[in-house]
Amino acid sequence: MKISEILKSTVPHVSMEVFPPKNDADFEDVMHVAEEIADLDPSFMSVTYGAGGGTSKNTVRIVSRLQKKDGVTALAHLTCVSSTKEEVHHVIEQLKEQDIENVLALRGDIPQDASFPMPNQYHYASELVSEIKESGDFCIGAACYPEGHVDTEYKKDDIRHLKEKVDCGVDFLTTQMFFDNDIFYNFLYRIREAGITVPVIPGIMPVMNLRQMKRSCEMSGTTLSRRYIELADRFGETPAAMQQAGIAYATEQIIDLFANGINHVHIYTMNKPQVARAIMNNLSEIMKVP
Ligand code: FAD
Repeated sequence: MKISEILKSTVPHVSMEVFPPKNDADFEDVMHVAEEIADLDPSFMSVTYGAGGGTSKNTVRIVSRLQKKDGVTALAHLTCVSSTKEEVHHVIEQLKEQDIENVLALRGDIPQDASFPMPNQYHYASELVSEIKESGDFCIGAACYPEGHVDTEYKKDDIRHLKEKVDCGVDFLTTQMFFDNDIFYNFLYRIREAGITVPVIPGIMPVMNLRQMKRSCEMSGTTLSRRYIELADRFGETPAAMQQAGIAYATEQIIDLFANGINHVHIYTMNKPQVARAIMNNLSEIMKVP
């Protein structure tokens, strides 16, 4: 099923993410994790794509298996930063062969040692969106950044680039993680004003490890909220307590989003079915309310 159809639902629902293994040897272990997450009945599952191309073939394999064996609607991420246009085209052909109709078109992070862009490469995700659009009947998603993307100094320029990307054929957007819902509501207001009308799925990250998250926030330009830092100060040294606090924080964010009329939330499950399960338990009655 196309994700654009799922997003028409007025009942609250959540999607979840898995990332592929770095080594082929771990493929079945990750597949097992993906199937545990699938058992939680997310509205769809997304599978990330290694920017360097190392894990890329496993993205297609996992998505294909989730669709064919587990009957799950799945979304294949596809980045273009480290591939030639021919290599990207080849992956798009593989997606078609496997009947994968949902793709998240991304540029990927520019590797530090790469002279980007190399000849015969896409510069921006918008070009990849156009290529996918021309290649078949895909439902195309793209990324957006409520706090602005780190490469672009001014938010208004980032929103202008986002509008150009959406106009190339994007059907829905998924956001970078954020820890203060007001940042998301403000972003939604600004992009609607800029004429971006496609559905926007907020991405929620349940944080379990403050040190890792600080690094990731620095790299992605995401602000950790004061409230979150206070939780981490108090519980950060005790993993079980931190996990409970992270789950509670993410649950609260999701409930607030649902209460404010957002019907679809994406959870960055980070291959942790137990965390996803705890959040789903917390939402069991809430998700029944249309
Ligand atoms: P783009 O949309 O191309 O934007 C990149 C930058 O270029 C922005 O600053 C934008 O403002 C600027 N820009 C765009 N067009 C122009 C223009 N015409 N002129 C000047 N500047 C321009 N990474 C992975 O490697 N694998 C994944 O699976 C993955 N999944 C992700 C999922 C989500 C929901 C999100 C939010 C991010 C994901 N990422 C992933 C990270 C993403 O690849 C990086 O954030 C990357 O740096 C930007 O990708 P993009 O597709 O948003 O790029």
